[in-house]
Amino acid sequence: MKRSRAAGANSVRESLAKTKLSLADFADLISPAANESLETLSLRSQQLTQQRFGKTIRLFAPLYLSNECVNNCAYCGFSRDNPILRVTLSVGEVLREAAALREQGFRNLLLVAGEHPKFVSNHYLRDCVAALHAEIPGVSLEVGPMETEEYRPLVAAGADGLVVYQETYDRKIYSEMHTAGPKRNFDWRLETPERAYAAGFRRLGIAALFGLADWRYEALCVAAHADYLLRHCWKAQLTISLPRLRPCAGEFQPLTQISDRELTQLVCAFRLMFPDAGLVLSTREPARLRDGLIPLGITMVSAGSHTEPGGYTGAGREKTHLTVRGKIVETGALVSPKPPISGEGASEWVATNGHATNATGQFEIADDRSPGEVAELIRKLGYEPVWKDWDAALTM
Ligand code: SF4
Repeated sequence: MKRSRAAGANSVRESLAKTKLSLADFADLISPAANESLETLSLRSQQLTQQRFGKTIRLFAPLYLSNECVNNCAYCGFSRDNPILRVTLSVGEVLREAAALREQGFRNLLLVAGEHPKFVSNHYLRDCVAALHAEIPGVSLEVGPMETEEYRPLVAAGADGLVVYQETYDRKIYSEMHTAGPKRNFDWRLETPERAYAAGFRRLGIAALFGLADWRYEALCVAAHADYLLRHCWKAQLTISLPRLRPCAGEFQPLTQISDRELTQLVCAFRLMFPDAGLVLSTREPARLRDGLIPLGITMVSAGSHTEPGGYTGAGREKTHLTVRGKIVETGALVSPKPPISGEGASEWVATNGHATNATGQFEIADDRSPGEVAELIRKLGYEPVWKDWDAALTM
């Protein structure tokens, strides 16, 4: 952090000229001084990305299985204590959602669920993965952390990627943000990618959620973590996501800011530091910024996303229930005189695509273009949208 704050034009220039960067060089590249050289940084990042990945952008969609959760994370709409509408999709309903996404072109799905041992059990997850495997070649998971032995059946069922955001690498802020549930254990979460690797996952995804601690501190920690994983889990492909906090139920306000220009700088700095790492940008970011970042270093984007279970087809609609402080409230109590989440009129967190389950989403989407529109834009930028880049047959 000291080095980053104090970096001058000379040290930035020296770090920019290197082909293999250290963490100290990375600190230079995310410095305020390097922000002045953003054009040079972007150009190098663009060249390096094209050299390593060609002109391709992978597409994926999140498929939310459940918004039940036993944790309280101050910044998340699914937090246990938020009075929201919840549902867990059956395996059949998950297949219905996946079929709708497949129809749109997706062959890479990220299954997302809150952490709730009763609703989102290990068996349930295994059954979901096994059912999807025949139709969807790329299935990744973003679910509550598990033991290595618990991960193995998921890998055997066909899951190939595991994504776990540390959220914040600042232990003090971490303990303030996570006030209930197993997620309070910082180290258990931090060691999750290694347990997943030991179980056989071949793609690992990490991230900090920008908006909690100072972004440069988080970026340095993500870089240190990525560097460690690349050395210790070297057979896996590593992706780094760059999520910024979005409005959500509970109305948490970000504690810190990272501007669009700084986010661009960070994408480029990650690329120079980790030439082969996938860099992921979700629909948390607005269309214009996503379009601008695609040619600079991003290699993977989501599109047409819904962050509520059943959001693509309305699956699970009949089972949606309200929970208040973690307890299910009787159906009669569902009709509240005011929406459970504040907002103009009906809750803005309820999906409005005509398919909605009315379950509450995790956060608000900023880029609501359809997958077809995003793919078209990628083509217009001179890149090839890649819907499928993996098949289990390749491992035979
Ligand atoms: S961030 Fe994850 S663990 Fe925390 S409340 Fe949301 S879904 Fe649950």
